[in-house]
Amino acid sequence: MSTNRKFLNFIDGAYVESGSGASFEDRNPIDGSLYALVTEAGEAEVDAAVSAARRALAGPWGKFSPAERSALLYKVADGITARFDEFLAAEIADTGKPVSLASHIDIPRGAANFKIFADTVKGAGSEFFETMQPGGVEAINYAIRTPKGVIAVICPWNLPLLLMTWKVGPALACGNAVVVKPSEETPATATLLGDVMNQAGIPQGVYNVVHGFGPNSAGEFLTKHPGVDAITFTGETVTGEAIMKQAAVGLRDVSFELGGKNPGIVFADCDFEATIEGMTRAVFANCGQVCLNTERVYVERPIFEKFTEALKANAETFKRGDPMDEATNQGPLISQEHRDKVLSYYGLAKSEGAQVVTGGGVPKMADNYAPGAWIEPTIWTGLDDGARAVREEIFGPCCHIRPFDSEDEVIALANDSHYGLATSIWSQDISRANRVAKRVEAGITWVNCWFLRDLRTPFGGSKRSGIGREGGLHSLEFYTELKNICVKL
Ligand code: NAD
Repeated sequence: MSTNRKFLNFIDGAYVESGSGASFEDRNPIDGSLYALVTEAGEAEVDAAVSAARRALAGPWGKFSPAERSALLYKVADGITARFDEFLAAEIADTGKPVSLASHIDIPRGAANFKIFADTVKGAGSEFFETMQPGGVEAINYAIRTPKGVIAVICPWNLPLLLMTWKVGPALACGNAVVVKPSEETPATATLLGDVMNQAGIPQGVYNVVHGFGPNSAGEFLTKHPGVDAITFTGETVTGEAIMKQAAVGLRDVSFELGGKNPGIVFADCDFEATIEGMTRAVFANCGQVCLNTERVYVERPIFEKFTEALKANAETFKRGDPMDEATNQGPLISQEHRDKVLSYYGLAKSEGAQVVTGGGVPKMADNYAPGAWIEPTIWTGLDDGARAVREEIFGPCCHIRPFDSEDEVIALANDSHYGLATSIWSQDISRANRVAKRVEAGITWVNCWFLRDLRTPFGGSKRSGIGREGGLHSLEFYTELKNICVKL
């Protein structure tokens, strides 16, 4: 199999090869076909990208007003929308996700992030104090926000454009310059965006992309680079630990959105139909590859059997196959390597004593799709609370369902995790739902819904699920330096 498609690094406004000539393969997880070759950046290209970003900050970009930057970011969003089909095709080829998902979430939200943060920054205020000291000394104190500098943006593969622009949008709206390292699994849309940036009139060097892997490759070269002022990262918790060590040199700031093992809490008084519909999405959306997906489901005992049966019935209705068919609602996992990992947990759960309610293996696919990374949605019951399949993030379309008898018990179960990203609570007793929400250790709690997002709200994880919050004005905390100016009158 061969391809003529090649994704190059985007440095200082131009697409460039790597001096070493090194490249790697980008395969489509639908059928394992070769989608593109990707240029792998070495230390020289990463250094060139960081230097270009520093020059951009010293140039006209550094003097633009928030309104001028916002106007350009609106053009970037419109540029993505104008090339919607191209972005959509690229995202689908990289991830295998169905058009029914990518056309509603990934690309529109990816574009919208630029407008949302442009508006946020334009409308952001600041604090002001009149200071009066004994003896008649008077002063005014006010705070201003200035860009932090060069931001390294390290991205995962599960929502490539959306999660990347969730960082690049606010970073640029605040006046920074960025060097993006997309996941090695999903280099396409970050590369395409370079062209859109040029057409929108974003000055060269403001947006740069370097391709490669993590350790001893572009990811590590970038996060270690002394010219990087701060690092924003979304990915696995263990990768976050490695990046934090790299960031410690030079005391660079970090914003981390990391892994989870999210609980869903279902009380017997829930609206049953709505809960099943919501929990089906919470467990299986994007083939279980959303950091917010639920992998631990706790159901109040009186409805445990009924709930398990209903979720099983839904898990068995997913349609796999042609991603361009609007009826397809389950794509493959991102890669064979990730499928091996998820399948190893399917095996582990069984050996730990799970009862397999549904799934547990690889579905039979038509011949053309057979080499893809397909997997069955899977539900278990009967595991101990200490089982690894209940405690470790699997990042696949699977969950364990366990009954509970009291509010205190389920709160203790939900909190018995190193992670603290997201939870959902399903009950028609709103007082109880709020009581439980307060006590669950999670950055984001949904009541009677899942993944209902208002982008102005704080987004992030507690415990080992993250550091800091992004979203709305909260993004300004990381992407700007808050300075106080004191003027004696
Ligand atoms: P990953 O940690 O394997 O990789 C993420 C990125 O980090 C990639 O670009 C990779 O090349 C890079 N990287 C790896 N090692 C590095 C190193 N030593 N130095 C610098 N860069 C390095 O994560 P993934 O498999 O791409 O994504 C899945 C994970 O992301 C899951 O754990 C999921 O929960 C998490 N996630 C979290 C959120 C959130 O908002 N909390 C959102 C999406 C995904």
